Amino acid sequence: MSQPFHFSDPKRAKELSDAIRILAPREPVKLVHVCGTHEIAITRNGLRRFLPASVRILEGPGCPVCVTPAADIETAIRMGENGAIVCSFGDMLRVPGMGRSLESARAQGVDVRTVLSADEAVRIARENTKREVVFFAVGFETTAPMTAAVVLDDPPPNFSVLTSHKRIPPAMAALLDLPDTGIAGYLAPGHVSTILGTKAYEPDLARYRIPVVVGGFEPLDVLYAIALLLRQIHDKAPRVENGYPRAVSEGGNPAALALLDAVFETADAAWRGIGTIPASGLKLRSEFHSRDARRRFDVRVEEDDAEICGCRCPEVLTARAVPSDCPLFAKRCTPLSPVGPCMVGAEGACSIWFRYEGERPL
Ligand code: SF4
Repeated sequence: MSQPFHFSDPKRAKELSDAIRILAPREPVKLVHVCGTHEIAITRNGLRRFLPASVRILEGPGCPVCVTPAADIETAIRMGENGAIVCSFGDMLRVPGMGRSLESARAQGVDVRTVLSADEAVRIARENTKREVVFFAVGFETTAPMTAAVVLDDPPPNFSVLTSHKRIPPAMAALLDLPDTGIAGYLAPGHVSTILGTKAYEPDLARYRIPVVVGGFEPLDVLYAIALLLRQIHDKAPRVENGYPRAVSEGGNPAALALLDAVFETADAAWRGIGTIPASGLKLRSEFHSRDARRRFDVRVEEDDAEICGCRCPEVLTARAVPSDCPLFAKRCTPLSPVGPCMVGAEGACSIWFRYEGERPL
């Protein structure tokens, strides 16, 4: 199967659809991706209709704000209550935390500001030199290099980072260790892989001998990657394969990797709905401890495992349920009044299924 270069090519779509049908096993097979952009590509373009009934594809922990622990949200709010200006991305503001969100805290007077980048938080720090400014940094390996860049760029002394950055490969491995996930193959995220390169999956995933294919985000990219996954399953030849070579290399982006390595080291991290995953977080190296908001503020919040009543986000985030399995989906829980984090984040499965009508037959 050659790489698809024509993005709107019905003939190519038919070829890939035929290949998927031929390669699909008779017994049910569950493929998982870990990327909201993939879920949007799949759902908005109705790609599930190209899959035989035996093949399902589900989103796992692919939404960074959805997996941000409630304790980190509460920590950011308390830093704001201690006088800091708290800056974070827009999606983060509405995610329910421990009884309150950044947005509801803002309504109570906490100075919470929406930013589009870490740079914008630095600008706010330069404009408010008498206030502490905390950048609540969330996201995977795609956004962490931008945080690293501002930390290295000599930001003003009143700027610090509350890091909740996470690494995707350890989360993919952690899902395989959970009972009853039954994952037969991973569609790995193209943008994270642009940074990390294909080799980065091997340390975490090689021992599981599971098919992994890096995929792009055009509909034909996704179908192509699914076909490659099914071919690996068919041939019983699991490996990490690059289905997105026009953007992803084996070694990744050296400049971005150097930024990550200069500023961060790995640490165990809590993932909402999953628990603590070893070496899945990024914390500031000791030479940047002066930029670490957790060290600058005397705020300690214990993680609260209490689940939101009736919300099935933990199962959605671990690819053990799809949004429509949740009795609250599109009833009590909608983007206008979200019950759980998966309905808030633009990359959350519930939010995407609500917007694009999930698995509807076309
Ligand atoms: S529909 Fe709402 S309540 Fe149900 S799992 Fe999704 S976010 Fe949670």
